Amino acid sequence: MKTIAVHTQNPYDVLVERGILGRCGTYIAPLLKGRTCAIITDDNVDGLYADTVTASLEAQGLTVVKFVFPHGEGSKNAQTLLDIYAFLCEHEITRSDCLIALGGGVVGDITGFAAATFLRGMQYVQLPTTLLAQVDSSVGGKTAIDLAQGKNLVGAFKQPAIVLCDPDALSTLPDVFLADGMGEVIKYGMIRDAALFDMLCTLNLDTVRAEFDTIIPTCIAIKRDVVEADPFDHGERMILNFGHTLAHAIETYYHYETYTHGSAVAAGMCMMTKQCGTAEQYEKLCACCQGYQLPVTVDAPLAQLIPLCSGDKKRAGGNLRYVVCEPTGTAQIRTVTLQEFHDLFIH
Ligand code: MG
Repeated sequence: MKTIAVHTQNPYDVLVERGILGRCGTYIAPLLKGRTCAIITDDNVDGLYADTVTASLEAQGLTVVKFVFPHGEGSKNAQTLLDIYAFLCEHEITRSDCLIALGGGVVGDITGFAAATFLRGMQYVQLPTTLLAQVDSSVGGKTAIDLAQGKNLVGAFKQPAIVLCDPDALSTLPDVFLADGMGEVIKYGMIRDAALFDMLCTLNLDTVRAEFDTIIPTCIAIKRDVVEADPFDHGERMILNFGHTLAHAIETYYHYETYTHGSAVAAGMCMMTKQCGTAEQYEKLCACCQGYQLPVTVDAPLAQLIPLCSGDKKRAGGNLRYVVCEPTGTAQIRTVTLQEFHDLFIH
């Protein structure tokens, strides 16, 4: 088992081990003040892992209740949140009980936000079952729901009590979701770890699963290092946004339909590196992304994408901040006007 200790205001551990979902109760029970766990999950994950998790919690003498909502980003909204609150009231959940986020990023984000707000705050545990959630969204304490006006517009920083990552859970993950997570995995290599990036270049979507015992803890440790240095996202955490300035524009342009987040990030990283990196670095990054069936560019014209970049949450005043990785394994934050950003791509 690999343990990554996260030293935020409320410190917690991320444990990575195959089969840990079936043993989750032994890790969760000692952290609880109350005796009831409310599992929050979606209708995809429910049938796959909820019984395993429930059995392990009940074996520790805990009472388990479960709330299931329809899978997908469309559920990450205020109505689902209200439904969760109503469910918690109905089951008389108290502040000393615990929410269990069992699923991918949507489940983790909305459960974390429910835990941050219900009864003014209660404990929650992350059991991420997608690659994206394991290496990215379950660590760092960002929780949120979407509004009709945009994604993640209402949220809170709320650290989990523990995160348990089971690489075996990824065996049921369809290739498109595996590729989605690989977009962020490649990003970690680019911003902090040239050796990880080189390793990823030797693998592809078919062979990478065998290396998850190394890759997942490596990515979590990188995210941990960045989050510890900037828990509330004021400065250095911005380096996690490599590729994201363009990715958010791509997602907006295509109404979040054509590209998954990770594939938009892959295209964003490649398009950025084409302008700011060396030709050799650009070619290597493109080849790496293609190995995971990730796009290296998009059809949308740059002239229409660039204005959408100003909608990025990471903008500061009238300026726009973006990340460049030259050489691979390092990251620099650059602040420019939208016009200067435009001129980078369109001369
Ligand atoms: Mg991301």
